Amino acid sequence: MEFQLPSYVLYCLNTLESHGFEAWCVGGAVRDHIMGKQPFDYDITTNARPEKIIEIFPKTVPTGLQHGTVTVVTDGGNVEITTYRADGEYSDHRTPDSVVFQETVDKDLSRRDFTMNAICYNPNKGYYDPENGIKDIKNGIIRAIGDPIRRFTEDALRIMRAFRFSAQLGFTIEENTAKAAISLCGLLKDISVERVYVELKRTLTSKFATKINPLLNCDAFSYLGLSIDGLDDSFNDLPTEFAFRISYICKITDTDPMIILGRLKSDNMTINKANIYLALLNQPFPDNKVDLKRMLNIGERFAVETVLDYYDTLGMDTKQLPEDLEDILLNSEPYNIAMLDINGKDLIELGFKGKEIGEKLDMLLEETIQDPTLNSKDKLIEKLK
Ligand code: ATP
Ligand code: MG
Repeated sequence: MEFQLPSYVLYCLNTLESHGFEAWCVGGAVRDHIMGKQPFDYDITTNARPEKIIEIFPKTVPTGLQHGTVTVVTDGGNVEITTYRADGEYSDHRTPDSVVFQETVDKDLSRRDFTMNAICYNPNKGYYDPENGIKDIKNGIIRAIGDPIRRFTEDALRIMRAFRFSAQLGFTIEENTAKAAISLCGLLKDISVERVYVELKRTLTSKFATKINPLLNCDAFSYLGLSIDGLDDSFNDLPTEFAFRISYICKITDTDPMIILGRLKSDNMTINKANIYLALLNQPFPDNKVDLKRMLNIGERFAVETVLDYYDTLGMDTKQLPEDLEDILLNSEPYNIAMLDINGKDLIELGFKGKEIGEKLDMLLEETIQDPTLNSKDKLIEKLK
């Protein structure tokens, strides 16, 4: 299990050690490596204090000085270096009132959330794993470090992190850890909604998203307008985009995406997409070109394709549809009002007024969707008579 660290990470470890400090690679990168996955970012833990880290590296950013974190900028990439620390009191279930720097790596490892996230590695010393995280990774287990009730009460986001990792990795949450998480899920509403959003999004778009079911079953998210008694296994096969998965839940629970996404303070792009997906899901299954054009009128090509992928996961016969879609686009068959060979101004000139103009354009569009050869001004004017 030789861990080939990238040279810029080795440079950070070596620099700290050559100044007389301890330094370990820790957290997600070590976990991912043990699982045979390529890590994407690297964290280092050290007994050097932030001011020392800033002093010995040429280029640093004080990312989270109050938590002891400094980002070291190198040509190869950025590395977050954090001083060994323990968290002080948590009075609000979300942020420690203070952090206390520590002298030993053991103390730093024991303040981390799960055993699998508390393994460290140094090229000269090998793995150091006092919380037995490697064994838990081998067995696919997520286990809180220390007393789970205490750890989840300190920072309730760890509850969501447990389910998020479970959904990403397909791991099982150890029994006492799971029991504590469920019994304390009411604390989630005290956490900032931005942090919940990030975790919920990652969970619902993961390969094993339905691992979230115990949280849904205990109504942990009803304060967000998200109430559903568990998701079927088929949820894991849906197109993975968050906006799609939220609209799917909204469809089966008859909820407006704006409620959930609004409470989650989601960005407008996600809200718009979710509304489009929901409108598309409420259309009949498009087993002909006419229905496909009606769908294109609601959502752009990418949205229609995502919904077709969804019908695919249901085992519906979608074979002909990509070809039909290609055909419509290639031949510029009209599917929205802007594509008609007539516009509002023309209708005004023909004597139409007010909302009649919109109604007539809608009618002409519907006719043209059914018969694209109608799309010339003369023929459309003829239709108006
Ligand atoms: P990924 O980046 O893939 O989501 P990660 O394990 O790197 O996973 P980060 O959020 O980047 O997760 O955190 C880095 C490390 O910091 C974790 O591995 C864990 O040791 C510790 N950690 C992060 N969040 C918490 C928390 N809320 N409570 C305790 N420890 C935490
Ligand atoms: Mg990380």
